[in-house]
Amino acid sequence: MKFIRKPAEYTGYTLYHGEKSNEWRCPNKECGFSVSEEYICCPYCGQKIKFKEPPKVNMVTISIKTGENLNFKI
Ligand SMILES: [Zn+2]
Repeated sequence: MKFIRKPAEYTGYTLYHGEKSNEWRCPNKECGFSVSEEYICCPYCGQKIKFKEPPKVNMVTISIKTGENLNFKI
């Protein structure tokens, strides 16, 4: 099998302690293993992966009384 670098599939992001971390998935349809941006290939199936800029998501910032900002993805 020939391994061509494929762009990882962006699945969204998580906010953890105020730090945003992008979630990616292996582009191999039969695999779909969760990968992170440091990976150059999928540890599960060996598919070479390239990462592009995550697609823009519309953000709404809602201020609540405590002064904290909560971001929601729509
Ligand atoms: Zn994979």
